[in-house]
Amino acid sequence: MQDVIIIGGGPGGLTAGLYTARARLKTALLERLAPGGQVLTTDLVENYPGFPEGISGFELVDRMKRQAESFGLEIRGEEVVKLELSSEAKRVFTSKETLEAKAVILACGASPSKLGIEGEELLTGKGISYCATCDGPFYRDQEVAVIGGGDAAVEEAIFLTKFASKVYLIHRRDQLRATRLLQDRAMSQEKIEFVWNTVPTKIVGESQVDGLDLKDVKTGVTTHLPVSGVFIFIGYRPNSDLVKDQVELDARGFVVTNDNMETSIPGVFAVGDLRSKLLRQITTAVGEGATAAFAAEKYIESLE
Ligand code: NAP
Repeated sequence: MQDVIIIGGGPGGLTAGLYTARARLKTALLERLAPGGQVLTTDLVENYPGFPEGISGFELVDRMKRQAESFGLEIRGEEVVKLELSSEAKRVFTSKETLEAKAVILACGASPSKLGIEGEELLTGKGISYCATCDGPFYRDQEVAVIGGGDAAVEEAIFLTKFASKVYLIHRRDQLRATRLLQDRAMSQEKIEFVWNTVPTKIVGESQVDGLDLKDVKTGVTTHLPVSGVFIFIGYRPNSDLVKDQVELDARGFVVTNDNMETSIPGVFAVGDLRSKLLRQITTAVGEGATAAFAAEKYIESLE
């Protein structure tokens, strides 16, 4: 039996693993993809303290991973398919094996939301992307559209100006949600053209994106915008399907915890983007990972 199983290898999970491994708790971290989570899709992280020049998302999580492993964290490339959390021994079923642990830390993160419009499913990977860092370089000297008005949309639109000849930022309101600093940077970028009060209604193309059908939400006027790439950043939905009938979730499906990151089931903790909270950042995930690890240690001591 493991002392702790951590599900998910983003900054929250890796930090929890660093702390539990360092506390000499037998810990396995399960991650279906490469450890790193959504940070891997970030070109430059410039709001994580300690790196005044910024640091690439890849390098930051690689450092976190190496640090946790140096204290004995075992990282396994396995997908969790089922969880039984209610009894004292928590059971974790992966595609390869069944594991048991005294405590479980959920760090499964969130996935990009979809627009749910015609053409989106057909053309994903054929001109539609949810990751500018991954796919931006394919659009050198081409025109692209970014959908959304939050930090992600604005930050990625700025990143795309490195490659694209023009970036249309299409937002459903006439004010951005993004932080002021990013707004100012985007507004001063000549390659970015803002398309306000507008939503896409269809992504047009057969084997690749040819353009977008747009609708002005104030006037109802519809237009067509020819672009070869569409980058969608309209928020995230929590990866809480595995626990949705077991722990308490908020109205949007994020996991509810107390101040110690403990969910409605004793011995089950949640950290990072999966958790119901105000601010989803690397900094907040990291702090939550440390708290959950410490609380898990106290919980395990209370069992003995
Ligand atoms: P977000 O803050 O939830 O913003 C989503 C944006 O998409 C909003 O502007 C929203 O419009 C728009 N939107 C939502 N549904 C839509 C739809 N169906 N059609 C058209 N537009 C739609 O999401 P995010 O930008 O992905 O950021 C998620 C979290 O990560 C935030 O907490 C953010 O601060 C954080 N983040 C931080 C950084 C950074 O610090 N550098 C970078 C990236 C993300 P409305 O504004 O009208 O609601």
